[in-house]
Amino acid sequence: MDNLVGTFILAAAFVVGLIFGSFATVASYRIPRRETIVSGRSKCPACAHQIGALENIPVISWVALRGKCRHCKVPIGARYPLTELATGALFVFAAFKFVVSANDASVSGWVTAATYAAFFWTLVVLTIIDLGHKLLPNRVVYPLFVAGWVGLAAAAVIDGDLGRLLDAAIGAAIFGGFFFIVAFIYPQGMGLGDVKLGFVLGTFLGFIEGPGLVLVGMFLSFLLGGVISIGVLVTRGGGRKTEIPFGPFLALGTVLALMLGQPLLDAYLGTF
Ligand SMILES: [Zn+2]
Repeated sequence: MDNLVGTFILAAAFVVGLIFGSFATVASYRIPRRETIVSGRSKCPACAHQIGALENIPVISWVALRGKCRHCKVPIGARYPLTELATGALFVFAAFKFVVSANDASVSGWVTAATYAAFFWTLVVLTIIDLGHKLLPNRVVYPLFVAGWVGLAAAAVIDGDLGRLLDAAIGAAIFGGFFFIVAFIYPQGMGLGDVKLGFVLGTFLGFIEGPGLVLVGMFLSFLLGGVISIGVLVTRGGGRKTEIPFGPFLALGTVLALMLGQPLLDAYLGTF
């Protein structure tokens, strides 16, 4: 693929990702409050001042307003621009992996990139909701599972490579199945929300590289979850009351596995 075309695709993916990142902060605020996400202008949560179009430009508005509401001057957390930047980066990654670096401007390349971008967007929403409310709503996880399978099935059919759907199904069975067993044995430690999300994550990992990458994703999730949980318990001196949501670690471990999994796997297998 032409360098200029590739650069343009990645820049466009970044801008689209910033806009969807802004929408992710809205969705993650409204979904747990059972508000509609398809209509209604955003309001300042402190003074209910309606946020105009110029105050709603991803990252730029936050910087221009110096992180404060224009009306009441209540601080707007850095998590808003950070969420937008993270979503932008994830969309760039999806475009890079499935279109630009794969040199695949075919329909299946774009369908795969769009499906993974939608997957990443939903993981951003679930991460924010889980951090704030300690829950992974079925209203988000179920549609993600269905839409994910529709998108991946479309890509596989266009490519004429149905074996990847079998890989995705095996991945779902490994990731989700393992968590189901853990939740069955140790229900205090793992919620059913994590189990359901595990089936989704296994699907998206399995579709790429089969079971090897699924195991890398699970390993990274547990590693991150374990290390950070111990850190939080030590610094807060928390007891059993300090509940740490596991969803964000699952999301992060899966994204890292998709980004670094194949080199990690090659290095590991190369050592034996
Ligand atoms: Zn305000």
